[in-house]
Amino acid sequence: MLLRFVCMPLLLGILLWFSGCRTVPHTGRSALHLVPTERLTSMASIQFERLKREAPISRDANYNAMLRRVGERIAYVAAPDMPNAQWEFVVFDDPGRVNAFAMPGGKVAVYTGIFKVAKTENDLAVVVGHEIAHVSAGHGNERVSQQLLAAGGAMALHVGMEDIDSSDQQMLAAAYGAGTTIGLILPYSRKHENEADEIGLIYAAKAGYDPRAAVGFWERMEAQKTGFSPPEFLSTHPSDSNRLDKINALMPKAYEIYKNHK
Ligand SMILES: [Zn+2]
Repeated sequence: MLLRFVCMPLLLGILLWFSGCRTVPHTGRSALHLVPTERLTSMASIQFERLKREAPISRDANYNAMLRRVGERIAYVAAPDMPNAQWEFVVFDDPGRVNAFAMPGGKVAVYTGIFKVAKTENDLAVVVGHEIAHVSAGHGNERVSQQLLAAGGAMALHVGMEDIDSSDQQMLAAAYGAGTTIGLILPYSRKHENEADEIGLIYAAKAGYDPRAAVGFWERMEAQKTGFSPPEFLSTHPSDSNRLDKINALMPKAYEIYKNHK
């Protein structure tokens, strides 16, 4: 009986691990992806369409042109990592929201508030590169997979005693349902943040944008922090004191890519 308790989650974990391992582009890290990409892409597409219907879209010609130019250049260099993307770039009209996101399938959006901090195309390339990097690195899939694994492991514990009850089913459904919020509200982990910074800098540099803009951009983001509420971009993309150190450490490599592009 004890063997069953211990082995089932372990076995489940090992099976899932081998069936869903993927290598993150540019960093080479191994990541667990249990949800089929097509499934995430179709969920993201439905959610993005809903958002476009419900949230006001900015008609500001400058903002839209800026996002389109930067987005298309970053998308071009990220294409090998996201070969099936159907790219779309939208500016949502919300000056109070300092935020941006990208979703599986190549849906990229910024809120007009981000332009308070992203003043130049180099700055915007840092933001868009970072967001697209979260998607190309599969961070959403990895988070949902971790939740699924935890739910599956807990469920396997119960299988030895009784049939799967409704609370287990609910737990699994909840973990799976977390996929519907990918790219919008779930905060990223520090590991994912650092990885998105790294890949995003490479994308920006490859696309011909000066990666050194990242330093000023993140400094301005930090300066926006007030005692009570950080800007949204920082709360969904948690920052910490060593973020700039890490970015500075990556800079020689990113700058080299940028120089060679010119
Ligand atoms: Zn982030």
